[in-house]
Amino acid sequence: MNDLASAPVLPSTSPVLYPLSDGIGSAALIQYAGDDKMIVNAARVSFGGDSDVPLTGRDEKLIAYLLKHKHGSPFEHNLITFKLVCPIFVDRQLVRHRVGVSKNEISGRYVELQERDYTPTQFRKQAPSNRQASVEDDGSLDQNAAREVWKYASETAFKAYHQLLELGVTREQARGVLPLSLYTESYYTFNVRSLLHFLELRDHEGAQYETRLFARALGELAEPLFPVTFKAWRSLNSH
Ligand SMILES: Cc1cc2nc3c(=O)[nH]c(=O)nc-3n(C[C@H](O)[C@H](O)[C@H](O)COP(=O)(O)OP(=O)(O)OC[C@H]3O[C@@H](n4cnc5c(N)ncnc54)[C@H](O)[C@@H]3O)c2cc1C
Repeated sequence: MNDLASAPVLPSTSPVLYPLSDGIGSAALIQYAGDDKMIVNAARVSFGGDSDVPLTGRDEKLIAYLLKHKHGSPFEHNLITFKLVCPIFVDRQLVRHRVGVSKNEISGRYVELQERDYTPTQFRKQAPSNRQASVEDDGSLDQNAAREVWKYASETAFKAYHQLLELGVTREQARGVLPLSLYTESYYTFNVRSLLHFLELRDHEGAQYETRLFARALGELAEPLFPVTFKAWRSLNSH
């Protein structure tokens, strides 16, 4: 039988991606347990057919079948833990994924928050037809002016934060003046079922660009751990 207790745990040099290309926002693979074979075994145990033989072509077909017919529970006997450093506005979208996702986050009550926030390299315009979406700048947006306003707002907010702390205001209140672009850091643990559901919703053209970059990074980090499942899922979802 597959032994989850001996499932691989990553060495300290775990892979890290920088989805926002600013050297701050990051997604790192911290640990994982389980593999494609465990998914097959979880499905086959219903008729006593689980085994410790290596994955076969039949097993690969079974994984594709399970995904296609939305038999989700065999994909839950595993875990993948990421450390994410992402803007608060991205994190706020991630925490909406409630099922099969565990999270612990840095506390702005405990620690003084670092002066690091995300600045877009390229500002986008409001989409004309979709009230939630954005479109690429067609050249009519003054990128430099937008950058200046962003910088001013960010610097002013951090200055106010430090002034409030110097006045003796508690960290839990002073943080209230900080921007949504402030970087926060968390551990997120998914199982493959919850991760694929997350990717379907957030590595999608309807999702916010920055959130999509993080979703894509999580998929990239997880795919080598469950290659058969990801291959079948990608061919089903054209991802
Ligand atoms: C492009 C996009 C735009 C969005 N815009 C907004 C927005 O403007 N405002 C906003 O508030 N949210 C918004 N969301 C969040 C969205 O409504 C979901 O909360 C989020 O995507 C998580 O999806 P989920 O509920 O399927 O995932 P999970 O919370 O992980 O749930 C997984 C699945 O479990 C089941 N489930 C979970 N909870 C329940 C329940 N209480 N009852 C019954 N079944 C349940 C459902 O089948 C669900 O699909 C947006 C999401 C996306 C992708």
